[in-house]
Amino acid sequence: MTLFDAITTPLPRRLREGLDRIAAAMRADEWGVAEEAGLTPTQLHALTFIAGRGEAGMRLRAVAEHLGVTQPTATDSIAALARKGLVTKLADPADKRAIAIRVTPAGCDVVRAIGLAMTSAERALETLTPQEQQTLLDLVIKTIRALQKAEAIPPQRLCVSCRHFRPHAHADAELPHHCALVDAAFGGRHLRLDCPEHDPAPPAESEAAWSLFAHHDAHQAGA
Ligand code: SF4
Repeated sequence: MTLFDAITTPLPRRLREGLDRIAAAMRADEWGVAEEAGLTPTQLHALTFIAGRGEAGMRLRAVAEHLGVTQPTATDSIAALARKGLVTKLADPADKRAIAIRVTPAGCDVVRAIGLAMTSAERALETLTPQEQQTLLDLVIKTIRALQKAEAIPPQRLCVSCRHFRPHAHADAELPHHCALVDAAFGGRHLRLDCPEHDPAPPAESEAAWSLFAHHDAHQAGA
């Protein structure tokens, strides 16, 4: 053991501390973007989450789960968004007794404007090379998946857990993966973290796809 092994905090702890600093900058960004749109960060998250679900809308419970807040907090945020005319509550087409929350055209305009706003975190990430950005995306996906498996966060709509994902289906190093839904090849840089068309794969299928995806990467790194 070297001197620095003895005096340095464990690497996962320092990584968490570093990510905390980045998260603080991202929270400040979110406050700025939300304030400009006249929303709180929770309302902003709820609006962008519901917008991503399109015409089908979302049930209140799903919104609360995604945001990691209680149902009363989610109810307050949805009520505020409804008062501002950004969301509307309608009967859920899948269950007439249930209520689905949908984004209005005015809400879509706000989401579009927010999506165009470049944040300081994005500007910092742009300083990484394209290869570094792709490597970071892989690591972020791996970490999100581990959090999901530990049930520390609700299920996320990642390509790697989608029944349409075919990892390393093509010999093309630039576009090795395949999305069976749109029948098209795509690259590691295109992997999605929140795809509106995500359809969860059964657990065994998801594990097999992950194994193919992750082992291939390990093999490439060792080659
Ligand atoms: S449908 Fe979406 S999540 Fe599924 S593989 Fe295609 S792009 Fe990825």
